[in-house]
Amino acid sequence: MENRLRLAPSPTGLFHIGTARTALFNWLYVQKIGGKFLIRIEDTDFLRSKSKYTENILEGLKWLGLKWDEEPIKQSDRRSIHKSYIKKLMECGAAYRCFTTEDEISKLREEQQRRGLPPKHDNRHRNLSKEEIDTFISQGRTSVIRFKIDEKIQITWVDQIRGEIKWQGNDLGGDLVLSRRAKDYEIGDPLYNLAVVVDDNFMNITHVVRGEDHISNTAKQILIYKALNFKLPTFSHTPLILNSEGKKLSKRDSVTSIDEFRDMGYLPEALANYMAFLGWSPKSSESEILSLDEISKIFDLSDINKAGAKFNWEKLNWINSQHIKNMEITKLSKIIKRYWHDMCWESPSQEWSTKLVILIRDSMILLKDAIDQSKPFFLLPPIQKEGQDFLENTDSKKSLEIFLNYLTKQNAGEIDKHKAKEIINEISKRHNFKKGILMKSLRVAFFGCLSGPDLIQSWELLSESKSDISRIERCLVTN
Ligand code: GLU
Repeated sequence: MENRLRLAPSPTGLFHIGTARTALFNWLYVQKIGGKFLIRIEDTDFLRSKSKYTENILEGLKWLGLKWDEEPIKQSDRRSIHKSYIKKLMECGAAYRCFTTEDEISKLREEQQRRGLPPKHDNRHRNLSKEEIDTFISQGRTSVIRFKIDEKIQITWVDQIRGEIKWQGNDLGGDLVLSRRAKDYEIGDPLYNLAVVVDDNFMNITHVVRGEDHISNTAKQILIYKALNFKLPTFSHTPLILNSEGKKLSKRDSVTSIDEFRDMGYLPEALANYMAFLGWSPKSSESEILSLDEISKIFDLSDINKAGAKFNWEKLNWINSQHIKNMEITKLSKIIKRYWHDMCWESPSQEWSTKLVILIRDSMILLKDAIDQSKPFFLLPPIQKEGQDFLENTDSKKSLEIFLNYLTKQNAGEIDKHKAKEIINEISKRHNFKKGILMKSLRVAFFGCLSGPDLIQSWELLSESKSDISRIERCLVTN
C-alpha cells in the first residue's frame, strides 16, 4: 500500500511557522519511507478562510522546497459529501439532532464553572422522540448534529512519537458537534472533526502527522473512524514550538509567518534546517548544518522529542549565517545582486561583484546584511567622529600623504594588489612610522571609521572601482 501523508492547513492566516514545521516533518517522513505528500486546504470556516492565505501557504511551501504531489484538495468543495456522512451517522443511530440553544449552553457552562467542572455538554437531546423533534422545529429552534460519545469508552492508540496514548470518553466534552446550526430538518455546515475523517479516508491517508494540540481531536476522530467503518491511519503528534516564555508560539510573538522570515533575510534552506531541529534531534548527531536532502536521509519520526521546542533566534541566525557561508558563490551573488539592484547600485564588473560577495559573506547573518556590508563599496561613507579624531591626533595624515604619493607615482594598473601588504610594509619602514597607523588611516579613508572588512581586499576592490585615491585625498583636505 502506498504511504500517503498530508498537510491540512486552514487558510485563515499567513503561513505560520508551526504549520510549516508540520509540513516539513510530513515531507521529510515521506522522503524516508517513500510515498506521497498531499495538501488539503481546510477552508470550512468560510468567514475566516481567504484564498489569499491559501496562495500564501502554497507559495511558502514552494519557497521552502517542500514539493507536494497531486492537486491540492479544497475541503469546501466536499461539503455535500461531508453532509452525506453525517446523514449516515444519524441513520445508524450514532448521531442525532440537538436543539440546545446558545442560552441554554451558556447557563450549563456557568453552572459547571460554579462547581469547578470543565465545560461539557449534558447530551440532553440524545433520546428525543420524533414528536419532540417536530415540536422543537415547529417552534423555530435551530439544531446541530451531535455524535454520541460513550462516557465509559477508553480510546487507545499507539502514537509514533509518544507511544501509547489513552483517552477517556468522559473527558471529550460530551457528545461531539458535527455540524453548524441549521433550520428545520437541514444539516448545517460540517465541522472540522467530521470533515477531517471523511477527507483523510477519501485521500487514503496512511499517516497523520500533526501538532500535539490535536491529540484530543485524534481521540474524537478515532471514534468517528470506527463508526464509519474506515481504516485508521497511524497518528504522530509533534511537539509545539514555544516562545521564550514557554508558551505556544502564536501570532502575537512578533515574527511567525514564513513571509516575514523570508523578508528578514533568512534563506529557505536555513529556515528549513532550523525548523527540523525544532523538536527533532538525529541519533547520529552529525553536523547541524544540513540540507533538506541530507536531513531526509537521517530523519525519523521516532527521533522527535515529546517536549515542546523553544524558538531560539540565536540558533536560527547562526544556522542562516552558516548556510550563507557555505552557499555556492554564483547562487549567493545572484541573491545579493538583487539587493544591489533594488538600491540602484551598479558594480564595475562581474569579477568585482564576486570578490565583494566573497569579502562580505563571512560577516553576514541575514541576507539583507549584504546592503550594509556592501554599501561603503558603492557609496562614499562619511568620516565619523572616531575617524576624524584619529586623523587629527596621530601621524595619520602624514602617512596617508606618503602613501598617496607612492600610489600616484605608480601607473594605476601596475600595483600588484596581492603585494599590497608588502607596499604598506615598505612605506612604513622607509618613512619610519608604525604600520598600524597607516592601516588605520586607510580604514578611515575607505570606510570613515576604524572598523570594516579586510583592508587589503577592500583596497583591491576600491582601486578597481577607482575610488581608493579620492577617498584618501578627502582626508588630506584641511578644513
Ligand atoms: N486544519 C487543521 C489545522 O490547521 C489541521 C489539523 C490536521 O492536520 O488534521 O490545525
